[in-house]
Amino acid sequence: MTGDRQPDERELDGRAELLMIKLDEQAEASGYHFNPDREMTFLLVRGLVTNTVRYGYPGCPCRLMSGKKIEDLDLICPCDYRDDDIVQFGTCFCNLYVSKAVKEGRAESHSIPERRLPTFEERKAEMKKRRDDPEGAGMKVWRCKVCGYICCRQSPPDECPICFAEKARFERIKAMEPQSAPKASPAPDPTPRR
Ligand code: SF4
Repeated sequence: MTGDRQPDERELDGRAELLMIKLDEQAEASGYHFNPDREMTFLLVRGLVTNTVRYGYPGCPCRLMSGKKIEDLDLICPCDYRDDDIVQFGTCFCNLYVSKAVKEGRAESHSIPERRLPTFEERKAEMKKRRDDPEGAGMKVWRCKVCGYICCRQSPPDECPICFAEKARFERIKAMEPQSAPKASPAPDPTPRR
């Protein structure tokens, strides 16, 4: 027994309400959107609060945490998979974050497949592949033509998180060729000049 007082349900609800306001503001300020279904959103944020109390970090409320932070880093909300899922399916895996079209009712969100690889070893290998050869692993560099924001991901975001320009305003930047080493200047001629 550590003697630490565990928060009761009411306290957890209160924390979730405050966190929901904060995350919602942060999301809107950076081109992301909460699911407009406030009841569902609250339950998911409440799950983040519960996981923070349980593990010490806000792990994804819809997935099983290992409890080892190093193995769960990719699942700390917002998880590593959010952006690609929103672009491809209009929602993150939990349905907490949705695309602008879903938020505005122009598209529907539904359950989506899990893109996270099942074992820690597989995920580590994938991360290494992305680090060593981002293009080969499907990662591309995108630049917002309006404000110059640059990101590296499979496809550009729906909206620029800085200036809110739409997806179509992004252009792909090819990876830079490694710079060729500067040519060495010829060694001075040691022959004495007359
Ligand atoms: S799936 Fe959604 S709620 Fe779950 S960690 Fe990712 S961004 Fe957060």
